[in-house]
Amino acid sequence: MEQILEKLGELVPAERIKYNEPMSRHTTFAIGGPADALVTPGSEEELARLIIFAREHRLPLLVIGLGSNLLVKDGGVRGLVVKIDRGLGQVEFRSDRMRAGAGIPLAELSKMAAGESLSGLEFAVGIPGSLGGALVMNAGAYGGEMKDVVESVRAIDQQGEVLELDAGQLDYGYRHSSLQGSGLVVVSADLKLKAGDPAEIKARMQEYTERRQAVQPLELPSAGSVFRRPPGKYVGPMIEGLGLKGFNVGDAQVSEKHAGFIVNRGQATAGDVLGLIEIIQQVVQEHCGVRLEPEIQVVGEDLVGKQAFKNMLSAKGFNL
Ligand SMILES: Cc1cc2nc3c(=O)[nH]c(=O)nc-3n(C[C@H](O)[C@H](O)[C@H](O)COP(=O)(O)OP(=O)(O)OC[C@H]3O[C@@H](n4cnc5c(N)ncnc54)[C@H](O)[C@@H]3O)c2cc1C
Repeated sequence: MEQILEKLGELVPAERIKYNEPMSRHTTFAIGGPADALVTPGSEEELARLIIFAREHRLPLLVIGLGSNLLVKDGGVRGLVVKIDRGLGQVEFRSDRMRAGAGIPLAELSKMAAGESLSGLEFAVGIPGSLGGALVMNAGAYGGEMKDVVESVRAIDQQGEVLELDAGQLDYGYRHSSLQGSGLVVVSADLKLKAGDPAEIKARMQEYTERRQAVQPLELPSAGSVFRRPPGKYVGPMIEGLGLKGFNVGDAQVSEKHAGFIVNRGQATAGDVLGLIEIIQQVVQEHCGVRLEPEIQVVGEDLVGKQAFKNMLSAKGFNL
């Protein structure tokens, strides 16, 4: 695999490729072992080339945005990680519509829309993901979600072909879209907004920001709400009611501020987080009869055998 990965330099400029790159640098949890190779494409053409290369060489491919809904395991990610960021983040306004690249941070896009006096993306002001990740996850808050504003999505399939998908084809539901697990890589979207009063738009964004700051542990690394909301129930109060607020496994802790969040107090490993998730699931199942399902996406490999040995040597300064 190493010889195949070395050929990446023939596809994209060397400065966009990082080998043995700690995924903790690319997740808001600040957790995750190394990716064999992480590439940040600078254009749709580069992205298509990478996708085709991975398929032709049977290289495992993981696409990420800003890593704000990801728990990467301690053994890291084998094969190729493609990170979609500002290289694919152009934004164009056309009256009350915008075409935006998947790599633009969603919060920035929300502010840009407000700057054009366009309403519809206020809910997104504090969501720390990319537009691409938000389209895949149908991200939402305060009564709004991506499904309300998406007209169509442009994506690249595993053959490197570009597809245009209408909102109706995306099967949007609560934190769900048909893009999940589809192998499609989102490159941009057309969003439809509404002309609005700039002062009202800004006031709503300010209100949502304050509400978020009041209840969420934004001062510590996390991946947001860990669990999906079970029908008719709120996860945070349920976990808090069982006395689990502040409970920890290693440096992974149920947030003291919001029991639906797990925070990294400093040196948490993915193993700590997964251990804590399992304890929460067991206690909640036993006392409330509810099976909590993770909302965060768990990717990568456990830290075992050869990789554990490699990581230990590289932590001691040996260049492998
Ligand atoms: C403090 C905090 C608060 C949060 N608040 C909210 C909230 O209010 N509402 C909410 O919905 N979420 C919230 N989140 C979770 C997270 O921000 C969203 O799920 C966000 O949409 C993830 O975007 P991302 O770019 O970080 O995606 P990532 O975490 O990088 O990836 C998420 C998934 O999308 C896939 N993916 C990412 N980009 C692409 C692409 N271009 N093409 C194809 N697949 C792709 C990945 O493979 C992965 O499966 C919060 C997270 C944090 C840390």
